[in-house]
Amino acid sequence: MNPTRICVFAGSKPGARAEYRNAAEALGREIADRNCGLVYGGGCVGLMGVLADAALSQGGHVTGVIPAAIFSKEVEHRGVSDLRVVSSMHERKSLMSELSDGFVALPGGLGTLEELFEVLTWAQLGIHTKPCGVLNVDGYYDGLLSFLDHAVAESLVGGIDRSLLIVEEQPAALLEQFAAYQAPPIEKWLDRRQT
Ligand code: AMP
Repeated sequence: MNPTRICVFAGSKPGARAEYRNAAEALGREIADRNCGLVYGGGCVGLMGVLADAALSQGGHVTGVIPAAIFSKEVEHRGVSDLRVVSSMHERKSLMSELSDGFVALPGGLGTLEELFEVLTWAQLGIHTKPCGVLNVDGYYDGLLSFLDHAVAESLVGGIDRSLLIVEEQPAALLEQFAAYQAPPIEKWLDRRQT
């Protein structure tokens, strides 16, 4: 599967380290250089804004999906190729998912985590078969990944479901994995999850 539109979840804050901004910029450029479209939350702030600006500066196509409530607070990115204003957070997530062929989380806060875990949950249920990954910039997600291993050890997350999350430190390596991604056959996948 060769994803053509990559959905990226990212912090609405810039974060404490320059590495986060550098990674957001590198991912935006990498997506555009591979002729993939970028789908994201439509903001001009934080890592989201850095990501979108980088993709646009490389001539990439950027779709922002923003709820009207956030739009009115003037944090929307006016320069994106396609800005969709939707009525709720639920509508936003469902449209972002519909428009995209794979999902990446950059460093981010509660919103980013919630978006990542929603697409992962949908993957484990077989609602979609698209790749899901995190860009583990400077070990930002180390604690979360250890927690997921703990949840597997405690038999509350299936090992096979844990393996749905692709982890890389570099944008190119992550997008290579996405390009090579083969979703497991859903029936077998769901059967194996019962054991
Ligand atoms: P957070 O990680 O809590 O900073 O939230 C970032 C995620 O939530 C992004 O992937 C967006 O989809 C959404 N989000 C949060 N704040 C904003 C904002 N000000 N503008 C647009 N989207 C936002």
